[in-house]
Amino acid sequence: MPRIVQLPPTVINQIAAGEVIERPASVVKELLENSIDAGSNRIDIELEQGGTERIAIFDDGCGIAAEELPLALSSHATSKLRNADDLFAIRSMGFRGEALASIGSVARVTLQSRTHDSETGAELQCNGGDFSEIRSWNGSPGTRIEVKHLFYATPVRKKFLKQNATELGHITESFTKIALANTDVHLTLKHNNRMIYEVPAGASLLDRIRIFFGDEIAKHLFPVHREQGPVSLTGFIADPACDRGNSKLQYFFLNQRWFRDRSLGHALQEGYRGLLMTNRYCIGFLFLQMPPEMFDINVHPTKAEVRFIDSQALYHVVRGAIRQTLADKNLIPHLQLPE
Ligand code: ADP
Ligand code: MG
Repeated sequence: MPRIVQLPPTVINQIAAGEVIERPASVVKELLENSIDAGSNRIDIELEQGGTERIAIFDDGCGIAAEELPLALSSHATSKLRNADDLFAIRSMGFRGEALASIGSVARVTLQSRTHDSETGAELQCNGGDFSEIRSWNGSPGTRIEVKHLFYATPVRKKFLKQNATELGHITESFTKIALANTDVHLTLKHNNRMIYEVPAGASLLDRIRIFFGDEIAKHLFPVHREQGPVSLTGFIADPACDRGNSKLQYFFLNQRWFRDRSLGHALQEGYRGLLMTNRYCIGFLFLQMPPEMFDINVHPTKAEVRFIDSQALYHVVRGAIRQTLADKNLIPHLQLPE
């Protein structure tokens, strides 16, 4: 048997990157979430070649102090969590302190930032885990991150990338989810110098749905609203006539974070019982809001899944709210409403 050795940090980060950074879209998601956590009002993203060549993000958020730049790119270093108790009261998108370190271990990253109360900014580079010195940088307050040559340091992972158009599709999907959940932030997405999306701040959720999914869908949406104890459910569902061949247009958000949940997807479909043919799916954009003590988001590194303390109760909230909305539109008789 070979001896047991402690792995070097770069290898540890590359292993972690394997979990969270699957493709360019994962980079975009993590960077966008950081900019949202930084309280940005405006976030601009530029991509080249489906993000495989270059991903750059510019925000006007709180910025990072010069001396903290190396920490920002180090694993298990975060400004969002202090102790184990905080884990069950998470209000930020991030908390694991792993995203930037993971990206830095598999790509060439330039991080430039300036806090709002400092005269100048600073920059730091990280190439496949190797740090440059901290240099001064003359930019406006906020943060700019450029990620080039994704997976150059892990060629096997690079081989799994699909065509640029496919990668771009995954990126716009991540972008859409974050844009739907953060209507107070101005967001833009450019690919090879062409503007793909420009979503102004302050537009309503319905306006954003119209931008991403078109007028035909936006015109046929019904508002959903239900409060049950500490749980609130809002959003929109579409007229059953807008049904689809798959469930891709069923979006769930929890405290402004997109998540995936089979049971709630089922509850949504059950809400339409009797109105859809078999293998047809409804459209829904549903936003749950509840105190962080009621669920655990620390299930999976990408935070795409949530464990709820009482998922049964939530199932009934969703199905009940959908039935009610459809009954109010006289699509189902009120008599058929479940308790
Ligand atoms: P996490 O988001 O889980 O804390 P990250 O690796 O994504 O971990 O980021 C590490 C730290 O770097 C964050 O906790 C934050 O303090 C800082 N940071 C990253 N991106 C930004 C940004 N755009 N603006 C301000 N601070 C940032
Ligand atoms: Mg983060």
